[in-house]
Order: sequence, then C-alpha cells, then structure tokens
Amino acid sequence: MAFESLASRLQGAFDKLRGRGKIDETAVNEAMREVRLALLEADVNFKVVKEFIARVKERAVGQEVLKSLTPGQMVIKIVNEELTALMGGDVAKIAVANRPPTVVMMVGLQGAGKTTSTGKLAKHLQKQNRKPLLVAADIYRPAAIKQLQVLGEQIKAPVFSLGDQVSPVEIARQAIEHAKENHLDYVLIDTAGRLHIDEALMEELRQVREVAKPDEILLVVDAMTGQDAVNVAESFNQQLELTGVVLTKLDGDTRGGAALSVKAVTGKPIKFAAMGEKLDALEPFHPDRMASRILG
Ligand code: GDP
Repeated sequence: MAFESLASRLQGAFDKLRGRGKIDETAVNEAMREVRLALLEADVNFKVVKEFIARVKERAVGQEVLKSLTPGQMVIKIVNEELTALMGGDVAKIAVANRPPTVVMMVGLQGAGKTTSTGKLAKHLQKQNRKPLLVAADIYRPAAIKQLQVLGEQIKAPVFSLGDQVSPVEIARQAIEHAKENHLDYVLIDTAGRLHIDEALMEELRQVREVAKPDEILLVVDAMTGQDAVNVAESFNQQLELTGVVLTKLDGDTRGGAALSVKAVTGKPIKFAAMGEKLDALEPFHPDRMASRILG
C-alpha cells in the first residue's frame, strides 16, 4: 500500500513521544531526526524536508507545547498540520469559467495516466451534473484516440476527434466551437505526451494553449516515479504555467515523495488523486486526509 513504510516510520518516531508525560527539547529533536530520515526515505525532496523540519521544530519547542499536559500529542498535531500545509492546505477545486465552456488542458508524459485521467475527470464532472466533452488531441500515440473513444462510450460522454491528420491546435479550436454550439460546459483536451520532455512537445502544447485559452492546465504525473514526477512537474510548470497536478497510481506502493513535494517545489496544488484503473478511481485531493493517512 502507498505510504506504508513512511507511515510506520513516523508512528515509530511518535510512539516514543506519546508514551511520555513530560518531554523536553532533546526529545523533540530526537523525534524530528527520525521524521527527517523517514521523509528522505520516502523520497521527499531534500530542501522540502529541511524546511519542513525547521517549521515543525520552531512550533514544537515552544513553551506552551512542552509544558502542556500532552506534549507528545501536541507535537504530533503540529506535524499533522504542517504536512497538510505542505500539500497545499485546503482542497484546490477545479476551475469554473465565468462563461462556459471551461477549458481544461490535460498534459503529461506518456504512460503517466493522462488519457485515463481525462476519462475519469469527465466522469467526476458528470456526477456534478456537468456536461464534459472529451477531445482527442493526442494524434501521435496510435491508440490514444481509440482509447478516448472507448472511455467516452463507457461514461456516455461525447468525444471530439478529427482523426490523426489534423493539427492538435485545429482540433482544440474546433472542439471548443463544438462545445459552445452543443452547450457542453467542460472541454477536456487530451494532449500528446512523449517519453521525455522535449522542445517539440512543449512548443505544440504552447500553441494549443494559445488557441484554447485554457482555464486549467493540469499535469498528470505518476506518483510511483517519486522525485522524477516532481522534476517533470517543475519543467512543465516553467514552460507552460500549470494550474494544478493530477497525481496518479496512488493505489500502488508509492513511497510518497511526489505527493509530499510537488506543491512545495512547484507552487502548484495537487487537484486530483487517481487511485486505480477504474473510471471512478479519481478523487479531489484532500491534503488533510492525506496527512492523516500518512500519520496513521
Ligand atoms: P497516458 O499515456 O498518460 O495517456 O497513459 P494512460 O492513460 O494510457 O495510462 C497508462 C496506464 O496506467 C494504463 O494501463 C492505465 O490503466 C494505468 N493507470 C492510469 N492511472 C492509474 C492509477 O491511478 N492507478 C493504476 N493502478 N493504474 C493507472
């Protein structure tokens, strides 16, 4: 299960605090050393860990904490609050355009789960009585268009495709027109991915962005890839100005680094978490719930 070893390491560190009536600064420092190691082992970005520990220590060694009746519990509560803050604090909701349709560009590297997440996001929106249009703008990966069409059929959402001979820019332009004419309120553009970030990919995405004027640019990253996911997010953000991240494969045994670092490193929140291959396995990302899950 995801975060398993992080969770048990943290619990180990806290058990020592919990059992004691009084604690002093040395005990807090000892526990924080273990928390630090646990986070590094979970593949959390080094700088993020350093700043996190500094923040927790600053709050935890305050007199009102150490002198309280349950200092151990209070330190754990501080860690919980700071973990929540690290992942963005509040739930970051998907944008709603003042005038429909709301345009969402889905971007990411091949295999991250972009096409699947596009289908899942459409289903999520349908549950909120929205009418999404799926747009097949990944014209390079041979099966991508068909894959989106199959997803569309499964959830009974319309799929806009012009085959693989029309440019993604033109597909996006016509898709938005189509959505307006048909009173569809979300346009989800499944853009092309590549195995690696390259200039041609970014240039094409910038051109689509120019025409589509998206309200959201969501980067889909695979949580299993740890710090690589964070590096990918940083590059995409520099090149495209993301509005948020969709973190996939949280059902796997990810150590947790991506979930814990991506917001701190890029400044962009995780908006959705995908926890399985099924179409309803996508949820808005709740930093507080994730923190509680990690702390067990
Ligand atoms: P794309 O190349 O980014 O469009 O990737 P796909 O959407 O085709 O997904 C690649 C693979 O990852 C597929 O086999 C998906 O079923 C799988 N996948 C996507 N999201 C998740 C997830 O949250 N959990 C799991 N276990 N598998 C996922």
